[in-house]
Amino acid sequence: MTNVADATELAPAISLFIDGKMVMSKTDHWRSLVNPATQEVIGRVPFATPDEVEAAVASSARAFATWRKTPIGARARIFLKYQELIRKHMKELALLLTTEQGKTLADAEGDVFRGLEVVEHAAGIGNLQLGELANNVANGVDTFTILQPLGVCAGITPFNFPAMIPLWMFPMAIATGNTFVLKPSEQDPMVTMRLVELATEAGVPPGVLNVVHGGEEVVNAICDHPTIKAISFVGSTRVGTHVYNRASLAGKRVQCMMGAKNHAVIMPDAQKDQTLNSLAGAAFGAAGQRCMAISVAIMVGESAKWVPDLVAKAKTLKVSAGVEAGADLGPLVSPDALKRVTGFIDRGTQEGATLDLDGRQIKVPGYDKGNFVGPTIFSGVKPGMSIYDQEIFGPVLCIMYADTLEEAIAITNANPNGNGTAIFTQSGAAARKFKEDIDVGQIGINVPIPVPVPMFSFTGSRASKLGDLGPFGKQVIAFYTQTKTVTERWFEDSTTQTSVNTTISLK
Ligand code: NAD
Repeated sequence: MTNVADATELAPAISLFIDGKMVMSKTDHWRSLVNPATQEVIGRVPFATPDEVEAAVASSARAFATWRKTPIGARARIFLKYQELIRKHMKELALLLTTEQGKTLADAEGDVFRGLEVVEHAAGIGNLQLGELANNVANGVDTFTILQPLGVCAGITPFNFPAMIPLWMFPMAIATGNTFVLKPSEQDPMVTMRLVELATEAGVPPGVLNVVHGGEEVVNAICDHPTIKAISFVGSTRVGTHVYNRASLAGKRVQCMMGAKNHAVIMPDAQKDQTLNSLAGAAFGAAGQRCMAISVAIMVGESAKWVPDLVAKAKTLKVSAGVEAGADLGPLVSPDALKRVTGFIDRGTQEGATLDLDGRQIKVPGYDKGNFVGPTIFSGVKPGMSIYDQEIFGPVLCIMYADTLEEAIAITNANPNGNGTAIFTQSGAAARKFKEDIDVGQIGINVPIPVPVPMFSFTGSRASKLGDLGPFGKQVIAFYTQTKTVTERWFEDSTTQTSVNTTISLK
């Protein structure tokens, strides 16, 4: 965190978004936004004051009174318009995202696109927010459910998907009739703010969506605020656990999607080229800064012989600024992240793993100051080593060996994380055993990054998730609504009371 000085003071200030207006914060606490490929200061983000957080929540509370009763079709049509605007501005959004976050332009478009799919899903809200009805549960009695919005909900997002993850949150919350306070990552809020502007252009009314910036203090204020009914968090396990505990204690519904250590199991019968391409793409793409990146590959039996081919493939990947044509991976998000990732690589060698490919000290022509680490591969990795036990969140792949599928499953299940996993095989029986016995929430079969499309939910499990209901899909309708059951009887004019019913039975 830096207080603004000198040149940074001249950098464009990011606004808060309160009551339908971009508002300049009155805080004296700002942080520089820095292009990770060049270290150029491209903006500054405020840490909102308590009064500004209060104003955002109050605005959302006022807007809820009318928004909750807005007809389904009117809500849906805003998201139809919104998806059109996002498509129209795709290139501009991707460039902004790459400039502040570092990932390649193609991957930045992917980031926006996976969020766009949730916006399309929100446009179908009329088919999703449906109750149930049971006719004649007793004589002349029907019971039905209504799914009502909760009120003011909030979202707290990480740096690594600054388009997709905010779009996981506010479109579904608003489409279901809630109002929303968003707290984007303080590392790269610019593309998120552009998406908020487009949401307003699409017709999201003042107060229905508010945005505050900041870090720990703002997050804690959101967790504690009595008006906020539910919080969706995506980020690290440490912070997510804190948010879950603090906000649950304050009586809120909370979902936290958190850190990972995703294992891929490589069977010897797998299609070799496809498998190695998938592994290299999923381990090193986005410089490994994906919660669904493959960070551990378990080579079963003879597939251990493929490691030199994987190293050769990884060496062919082009590391450069995300805006450069042909770049396969860009820089890490910050100098701090660079220090953390290279520190892990240092420790991996000290702890006895074999460093087959070393991405430290990489030189990227034209970008001397970028936070670059090249693809890095360790083999002979074992539990107990810090490169295995902790989430590195960089382009570092740990290779382990197993004699059998059973052994590979046991290794994966013994790891506390449960975000994603994949098996590579041509055997239906092996794939079936894997999906039955693996204790991980999202499974790929010859698919390296099995993030489900939005008609399903994001279903990370165990240490990667707190809360029962995921973002998007059917689960998120349950997350953002309160189910009421109504049991009703209408008397026909000719009905006469026969006797008093003093039992609990419906008669
Ligand atoms: P982070 O936990 O540092 O930050 C997430 C949010 O929490 C940010 O908005 C930040 O401002 C806030 N925050 C940071 N420190 C805080 C504190 N002490 N108290 C309260 N709030 C605080 O995460 P990050 O580094 O931005 O993102 C990377 C992490 O997110 C990785 O662990 C990754 O696996 C995880 N992630 C998970 C998923 C998933 O779906 N499971 C998706 C993307 C990222």
